[in-house]
Amino acid sequence: MLMNQKRKAYRLLLGFLIIFFASVVNGQANKKKVVFVIADGIPADIIERVAKPNLDVVIQTGAYKRAFVGGIKGTYNQTPTISAPGYNNLLTGTWANKHNVINNDIKAPNYNYWTIFRFAKNSQPDLKTAVFSSWKDNRTKLIGEGLKETGAFRVDYAFDGYELDTLRFPHDKQGNWLHQIDNHVVSQADSVIRKSSPDLSWIYLEYTDEVGHIYGDGKVIDQAVMYLDEQMGRINRAIAYRKKNFGEDWLLIITTDHGRDARNGMNHGGQSDRERTTWLITNYPNLNDYFKQYNPAIVDILPSIAAFMKLTIPVANQNELDGVPFIGGVSIANARATIKNDSLWISWKAIEKTGKIKIAITYTDTFKKGGTDIYTTLSTVPLTDDLLGIPLEKLQRGTAKILLQGKNNSVNTLIYLPEKNNR
Ligand SMILES: [Zn+2]
Repeated sequence: MLMNQKRKAYRLLLGFLIIFFASVVNGQANKKKVVFVIADGIPADIIERVAKPNLDVVIQTGAYKRAFVGGIKGTYNQTPTISAPGYNNLLTGTWANKHNVINNDIKAPNYNYWTIFRFAKNSQPDLKTAVFSSWKDNRTKLIGEGLKETGAFRVDYAFDGYELDTLRFPHDKQGNWLHQIDNHVVSQADSVIRKSSPDLSWIYLEYTDEVGHIYGDGKVIDQAVMYLDEQMGRINRAIAYRKKNFGEDWLLIITTDHGRDARNGMNHGGQSDRERTTWLITNYPNLNDYFKQYNPAIVDILPSIAAFMKLTIPVANQNELDGVPFIGGVSIANARATIKNDSLWISWKAIEKTGKIKIAITYTDTFKKGGTDIYTTLSTVPLTDDLLGIPLEKLQRGTAKILLQGKNNSVNTLIYLPEKNNR
């Protein structure tokens, strides 16, 4: 009798172990899932001012931080503070000089700079992606779903294009139709997350920008941000439901694509502080030193998601990313290049306190056209040097791409090296 009970207990234990290991092998345990949200055109000062109890719940486990868009002001990668360029900064982890979306017409995106959706599918072909959006172009033009140029991959769950459905969402002058659409978009995301648990989801919400353009700063946009707060509460509860019942590990990132002008908040597109200053909210608890010490940029979101999901990014693509991960290991940030006293000066910020970096240069930009660039190593120096000067006479002339490779990440910059008589 005793033997039988022991045997039963062993069998039960064995059964549990088999289920446990099977779930680990299938990747069910701690499976990484990501939702990123762009809520359009919300200046940092507004989101900081209004009551946001639901977002506060997210911030409690993670963080709120001011961030920026618009590239590095006054340099080769300065980017208009306009919606589609902003979304594509996030999607590709690059500024507009690379992804080539300079306004909302989205005429000729350079698909050689892959989106996070393509990186995800390329790295893990089985994972499922989702887009929830009023605007159809986000999927068809920016992500470039199904296009030959993007590798023709598919978005698994697509709920968008509602702005074109004027029967269901008749347009009105107050922008309420976009509030209705946003609510619908959030409902779709809520139910798809609960039921199907896509691995990578993009939720795009538009009402805040619409009322910004109509009314400018004031009560209406404040109320719109409070609606956003309620909507994010629904998404966060859907995530909590998956965490609790399926043991999945969810990363939530909420941000905006630009701020608004300082005069009355009706416009954006320029390079003023209020237009460039954005914000980032995440539920992620272990943000790295880069996040803590610097204001993150919208281009930092892609490498952060990639680090969280443990995506493999091809080296040539990695070399082009303009962002720095705020999740996981990070060595280096903020590469800059200038010419002074007949030397090229390359500077950077060391995030780690030890280690070396390799600094390399190429005088071609064939990546831009779908090719590969061959880099030549200039020097290997201690990471904490933060500066390297190289006499121009040792360098070729023309446009040079400079790559700074640390142990955990790389950063890059670009500079034009003029002929001697032009200096
Ligand atoms: Zn916008």
